[in-house]
Parts: sequence; C-alpha cells; structure tokens
Amino acid sequence: MAAPKVAVVGAGVIGLSTALCVVETCPSCSVTVLSDQFSPNTTSDVAAGMLIPHTYPGTPIHVQKQWFKETFTYLFAISNSAEASEAGIHLVSGWQVFKSAPKEELPFWSDVVLGFRPMSEAELQKFPQYQFGQAFTTMKCDCPQYLLWLEKRLKATGVQMYSRKVSDLWELHSEYDIVVNCAGIGAHQLVGDKKLFPVRGQVLKVYAPWVKNFIRDGDGLTYIYPGIHRVTLGGTREKESWSLSPDPGTAKDIFDRCCSLEPSLQEAQDIKVKVGLRPSRQCVRLQREVLSQGELKLPVVHNYGHGAGGFSVHRGTAKEAAHLVGQCIAALRGSSSGAKL
Ligand code: FAD
Repeated sequence: MAAPKVAVVGAGVIGLSTALCVVETCPSCSVTVLSDQFSPNTTSDVAAGMLIPHTYPGTPIHVQKQWFKETFTYLFAISNSAEASEAGIHLVSGWQVFKSAPKEELPFWSDVVLGFRPMSEAELQKFPQYQFGQAFTTMKCDCPQYLLWLEKRLKATGVQMYSRKVSDLWELHSEYDIVVNCAGIGAHQLVGDKKLFPVRGQVLKVYAPWVKNFIRDGDGLTYIYPGIHRVTLGGTREKESWSLSPDPGTAKDIFDRCCSLEPSLQEAQDIKVKVGLRPSRQCVRLQREVLSQGELKLPVVHNYGHGAGGFSVHRGTAKEAAHLVGQCIAALRGSSSGAKL
C-alpha cells in the first residue's frame, strides 16, 4: 500500500495535536488538516489553557490520569526548552481555595502537578471567606500562541491545511484512506452525536501584568489564570446553551467575583469578553469506526468530546488517537495484501 492518506477534521487543540502525533508515529503517512475554522476562531482559542483536569464520569480515573500525565510531561519539556515563549507555555503557581474542606483532599492529579500541598495559615489569610486551600504549580498554555506553534510544526513536517467545512465524513472517502474526527462541538452535527452537548463558557481576558499567581475557587466557577500577556477571568458553565454572544450582565458578574478574590483586579485594563462552547460528553469519544457504503469502506478514528478539559489531556488523547490510526493502517495493509493474494 502507498503512503496512507490521513485527513484530520478540526484545527482546535485536539485536531492539531492529533495531526502532530500521527505524523510523529507514522512518518510515512500523508496528513492533511481540514477545518472550517482555524486559530484564532476556535473554542480552543477562548480557553484559559490551564492544566487542571476536569473529571469525565464515563472514563476510568487511571486512564484520565495517564492522559493528564502525558500532557503535563510533554508541556513541561517544552517549558524547559528554548521553544517555551514561542509555544506560549509556562509554569504557573497558585491556589485553589474552598469555603469548606473538599470531599476529596487529594485529587487524582495531585502527584502529577508540582509541589501539591495544603495552603498554610499565612496564605489563607489572603482569602478571608475561605476555610481551606491547596497550593500547587501547574502548566498554562497561552492558547492562540500554542495553536499557532502547533500549526507551524505541522507545516514544517509537510502537513497540508485547508479551510473546508465537512458536511459528512463519507464525502472524504474518495480522497483519503483514514479520517480522524476532531470536530469538537461540531461533531454534534457532523456525526449526529446526541451524547455531545455544549457547556457555554464566558470569560474575560484582561491586562493586569501584576497578577502572577493563579487563584481558583474550588467550585471551578470563579478563577483568575495569569498568562504571558493577559489574565483570564472566569467564568460560567451553561449546559445546553449554544449562544456565542457575550452577555454584558454575566461579564460584570465575572469581574465582580474575580475582584472579590483578588481586589487589585479593579485596576485591570483592556477588558475583552470571549465565549466558547465546551464540547461535553460523559467521556471523550476515542474510538475506531468503519463507515461503509456497499463494498466501499472508510476507517474513522474519533477524538472529540473533551468538555472543560481539552488542554489538560490533549497530548494523551492525541497519542491514543494516533495509536488507533496505526491500527487502521495495519488493517488496511492486511486487507490490501489479502486482496493481492
Ligand atoms: P475546538 O477548539 O472547538 O476545535 C474544533 C475544530 O473543528 C474547529 O477548528 C472547528 O472549526 C472544526 N470543525 C467543527 N466542525 C467541523 C466540520 N463540520 N467541518 C470542518 N471542521 C469542523 N480546557 C482546559 O484543559 N483548561 C482550561 O483552562 C480550559 N478553559 C476553558 C475555558 C472556556 C471558557 C472554555 C469554553 C473552554 C475551556 N477549556 C479548558 C476546554 C477546552 O477549550 C476544550 O476542551 C478544547 O478547546 C476542545 O478542543 P477541540 O479541538 O476539541 O475543539
């Protein structure tokens, strides 16, 4: 069989990192990224890009931990290299604070992030409304910068990228041997997945360069995540809302909640409001499927449904998707040698 042609649908963090893993694990493949939107117009561009996992109820914890660990290790290596600033990757330390002690004192990811420990009394004095807290250091991606870095790496390895809306995966069967579906919330329409639903998130991106530590309310709703250029203030989680229009009342509420955690944010400037739809599911869909029409077949690998945690696990799930692509290639090679016999 000639070099297998692989199409990756989607150019968010999942599509780009999956394309990169496919190139790395199968250098003989010809990989093309097809997407109706590229950075800066994807959900991935809106994300805060913090590596704090979201829990997928339908996926075993050891699997989620492995995805997170692989992603953390990958980004940690970038943060320790000369690529760090171009890739928009850096370490950030800070606090997760709770009004009452959390059910889980040691989250499953506590030994993956660096220096996880309970906050000291002196640290807690900064947050008079909170009783308990955890301090740790994790990774943060400046999302648009990281996406551009991934695109640049892909182009350097010869990956083609085309602007194209795919209406049906089957339309790709005559051009490609394998299709990888990384369409995020777009998979709702593209493959009719009724288990996939949007969780709308609104955030503010502000200029406040004096804020250096992250602060996160343990309920996950209010957070302050400093990046290289801007600080992300969040947020909202609105299940089943498809609206991409910023809501001014919500923006004020987010700002007020964040100022009550970090009063110096009152001086923040250049406030921009962003909205994204988290592609949510009980579990990430990481799966092989074979589409067929009559005698014709098209192997597909799905990798979507990362909800609130796509950045936190992207490299781990991309590696798994690339492994599934490898299985598809082996199956195609098997059937083509069988056909010759
Ligand atoms: P997307 O970025 O939406 O990419 C999907 C791609 O598919 C796009 O390029 C789209 O154009 C393309 N596409 C869709 N349909 C089609 C089609 N039919 N044909 C062609 N192309 C198509 N995660 C974290 O880990 N940490 C965080 O701090 C964090 N903060 C967040 C804050 C907010 C406000 C939001 C909204 C999300 C946050 N997330 C965070 C979650 C994270 O953003 C998502 O899990 C992640 O971006 C999903 O990536 P994706 O590539 O699957 O989707």
